[in-house]
Amino acid sequence: MTSTGTPVNEIQARPAQATHPAGKTQRPEWDVYFMDIAHVVKTRSNCSRRNVAAVIVKDRRIISTGYNGAPRGVRNCDEGGCPRCASNAPSGTALGDCICSHAEENAITQAAYHGISTKDATIYVTLSPCLMCAKMIINAGIREVVFDEEYSVTEQTRSILREAGVTLRRLVNYARPVLVRPDAPRIDAHEHSCECSK
Ligand SMILES: [Zn+2]
Ligand SMILES: [Zn+2]
Ligand SMILES: [Zn+2]
Repeated sequence: MTSTGTPVNEIQARPAQATHPAGKTQRPEWDVYFMDIAHVVKTRSNCSRRNVAAVIVKDRRIISTGYNGAPRGVRNCDEGGCPRCASNAPSGTALGDCICSHAEENAITQAAYHGISTKDATIYVTLSPCLMCAKMIINAGIREVVFDEEYSVTEQTRSILREAGVTLRRLVNYARPVLVRPDAPRIDAHEHSCECSK
């Protein structure tokens, strides 16, 4: 890895469903492929505030995935497990009171749980990492972060990733996959007992 951690490299995402000139269906680029999978992983999130997912990749193979929500064995956030998420605390505030683990945190700890090294891996995230996750990403030896949507609080995060030599890339012109499950529609958050704003 020769990257010195330039600010944010923008990478173009080619359309996943384009037709090849020869008439063959064009396969998605690797970045699109892994980001699409991250968007599927995101559907497992149980946070009433925001749904985020991460996919850790090494040598073009997925070694771990994670989505945000309550820790294992703790009541799910969208079932009232996290008072902070159920409150009207503005985005980015009272984070110290939140019981939800972040997607990156869960992907990294899931790798640890199974004894898989994340050294020199790439992490695909549907939302750019917060400062806490950036610290974990650095210390987990991950070398590259590819994100779709940008989280509002990023300046300090960007600067420590750069200083630590972790590349931060945004996937631009990326079309999120449309997930349709006519037979099993997602349970609406309002059907739970949470008092979230969603
Ligand atoms: Zn939550
Ligand atoms: Zn919470
Ligand atoms: Zn985070």
